[in-house]
Amino acid sequence: MSDYDYDLFTIGAGSGGVRASRVSAAYGARVAVAEEFRVGGTCVIRGCVPKKMLVYGAHFAEDLEDAQHFGWEIEGAKFDWIKLRDNVLGDVDRLNGLYTQTLENNGVEIYNERATITGPHEITLSGGEKKTARHILIATGARPYVPSFEGHEYGITSNEAFHLDAIPARVLIVGAGYIANEFAGIFNEFGAQVTLMNRSDQLLRGYDESVRDRLLQISMTKGIDFRFNAEIEKIVRNEDGSLTVSMSGHDPLEVDCVLYATGRVPNVEGLGLGEVGVEVNERGAISVDEHSRTAIDSIYAVGDVTDRVQLTPVAIREGQAFADTVFGGKPTTVEYGCIPAAVFSHPPIAAVGMTEAQAIETFGTCKVYTSDFRPMKNVVAHRNERSLYKMVCHADTGKVLGLHMIGPDSPEIMQAAAVAVKAGLTKDDFDATVALHPTMSEELVLLK
Ligand code: NDP
Repeated sequence: MSDYDYDLFTIGAGSGGVRASRVSAAYGARVAVAEEFRVGGTCVIRGCVPKKMLVYGAHFAEDLEDAQHFGWEIEGAKFDWIKLRDNVLGDVDRLNGLYTQTLENNGVEIYNERATITGPHEITLSGGEKKTARHILIATGARPYVPSFEGHEYGITSNEAFHLDAIPARVLIVGAGYIANEFAGIFNEFGAQVTLMNRSDQLLRGYDESVRDRLLQISMTKGIDFRFNAEIEKIVRNEDGSLTVSMSGHDPLEVDCVLYATGRVPNVEGLGLGEVGVEVNERGAISVDEHSRTAIDSIYAVGDVTDRVQLTPVAIREGQAFADTVFGGKPTTVEYGCIPAAVFSHPPIAAVGMTEAQAIETFGTCKVYTSDFRPMKNVVAHRNERSLYKMVCHADTGKVLGLHMIGPDSPEIMQAAAVAVKAGLTKDDFDATVALHPTMSEELVLLK
């Protein structure tokens, strides 16, 4: 018999924690999870999943407009935010239940309270109860970072955006990354006047310049305002509830809502890390080795709290690799190369591998092939919105180093194309595949 209460005690029931816990339990480990909020974590409760549902809801604004050109007469179409919000939150509840059930079905014990690490093998729950475990896994995720300035408390983050009582008439979004561009599209489609501001002179740093430029151009055409090289100085709340935002380099702006989308910081506070000897890096993230092990042998960490790649499928892989390594007898590491990613803006962006700039930096040169086209549906819909696909190849071998797309359904197309890029295929391999006509994705085998 083990000297410990559990073989594994996981802190945090998000994507990484749930996967690690359930698979470890399936390997025969006695597992407990502490979750202070809701089982499911950021992705399910207040991130990817409800966001994607809002993206679907928002896109109907364009679909209904376009439908007229396809012969549909749509009279009296009205949007009811409360209905969408509550349907989305209802589905979040359903998923929360499913995730809880999955843990329970695997015999994982759930403690709905906060946990602190009080020893290499000891957890203290907020109620005071102490538990021991052979291994401890930290999977506490990250939370939105809110810049500090006078009046910052008047703004909200993506956490609150899902619970709004009404769509604000005028929204200022701070930041120009994933969340900023996704919510800019959502609010704009719902009829809000959206301004997006960023401290630098660009949006979506890290994405290929061509697709970033295309998103900026399309977003401006859709009526979104951009303010670059701008930092907030203060926010004042006016008597009528509106907010006046002063910012460097630009005139003050009056809005009804300020949304911070300025990155996310790891949740490490109050976990007892310093006391027990778990190290954090300069970004405040837990330092781990390739097996997600911290400086303390019995303590591991996966997902956003380690700030390796802040994406759900990566956290899931890390959780799976942890379980396989520690309880499955199959030492496994996660491969971080060639991870496809998407921004669910309007239209969405998808990418895998190197940007043109990264390829040039790495190899000195590269070959670029593009297709800049107006999707058939947009032609009939009189929508002057063009898609852009770009392939970055090794100049000598023709190996595809990166693929970058902006246009309808590009994330759906990218998942399949990413298999080819990850497999190391060449431009010739793409070209050797017969086009599937008429589709947008056929452009991938017709790039010039
Ligand atoms: P991002 O890192 O994508 O973008 C942050 C933005 O905020 C950048 O424009 C950055 O400016 C700016 N910024 C950062 N710090 C400050 C600061 N101190 N003051 C002012 N501006 C600042 O973060 P998000 O919050 O959008 O998303 C967090 C993470 O969540 C993403 O990195 C991604 O990994 C994940 N995510 C993934 C999604 C998906 O897969 N579709 C969707 C949503 C989130 P600068 O341009 O100078 O860097």
